[in-house]
Amino acid sequence: MSALRTTLSFYRYVHIENPEQLMKDLRSEWTPLDVLGRIYVANEGINAQLSLPSEHLEEFRNLVHARFPEIPFKIAREERSESFVKLTIKVRPKVVADGLNDKDFDVTQVGTHLTAREFNEALADENTIVVDLRNHYECEVGRFDKALLPKANTFRDALPEMYDTLKGQEDKKLLLYCTGGIRCEKASAWFKYKGFKDVNQLHGGIIDYARQVEEEGLESLYRGKNFVFDKRIAEAITPDVLAHCHQCESPWDIHKNCSFEGCNRLFLQCPNCETEFDACCSKTCQEIMQKPKEERNLLQQAWELKGGPKAYWSKTRLSKEYIWAKRPLDEPLPVNS
Ligand SMILES: [Zn+2]
Ligand SMILES: [Zn+2]
Repeated sequence: MSALRTTLSFYRYVHIENPEQLMKDLRSEWTPLDVLGRIYVANEGINAQLSLPSEHLEEFRNLVHARFPEIPFKIAREERSESFVKLTIKVRPKVVADGLNDKDFDVTQVGTHLTAREFNEALADENTIVVDLRNHYECEVGRFDKALLPKANTFRDALPEMYDTLKGQEDKKLLLYCTGGIRCEKASAWFKYKGFKDVNQLHGGIIDYARQVEEEGLESLYRGKNFVFDKRIAEAITPDVLAHCHQCESPWDIHKNCSFEGCNRLFLQCPNCETEFDACCSKTCQEIMQKPKEERNLLQQAWELKGGPKAYWSKTRLSKEYIWAKRPLDEPLPVNS
């Protein structure tokens, strides 16, 4: 049996002088500890989702805290399987692609951080507006009741969309939330800059909300699943099934990727439809899957020539988090005939 592994995440907006050097240093420090995960470093900070053998947790915490004092770890859970398959550390222009010009506003003027208990209390007030800052496919399977849900598939697009919806209500109390809290850090500062007077955010996001709810015996006002960026896809916060199979509309909330790799669309498919469509998202993809491999590859190449994103295609299956990051749910099918 494999060793117990802890899955955790952390982030911090902090000035990093030399992200390339940090990337190399982290890789050499963390590899011996068998850390697996996805880490972004940028001049503006660090954002990490990872797992490691639980026996290395304290050593790892000391290493990280030597660089980023007191940075809080959000520990998701402990289990005997690996939620990530490799250690990927990347230098990025930003740790979260938010599309904002940070020079326009003071990114340190964030909103008020609320605990789970405080968030629940604030939700009871009828004058509050709850804003889900995640993407469409994330809020599809779980959310706070009454939350405004973006239609956008990226955070970059969700922000302006939410602002358009909220314009004119600057005096109301805003409650922002996201998966782990990092998107709210930038968004809350931006909403304040846009004139919202009472901006609040769920500290540590849904991940930490779930932990607090359990520890303190609170009622979970978040219902359904929390979409996460590792192999598990989503973890159940409550047993409610809020979503539907995209093909037959029966209640269903487990995402999968279309089994035609050239498509790889992320969608919801119930077991009946999985059988009927051979795990494909559509009859089109199913027909392609029934063709010989060479012909399938040609169809794939034809799609790429039409400008389809080349990176999705790989002989080995790409990691799911990569596909999710790159391939929005409503992108048109690659081949129409
Ligand atoms: Zn179905
Ligand atoms: Zn498909």
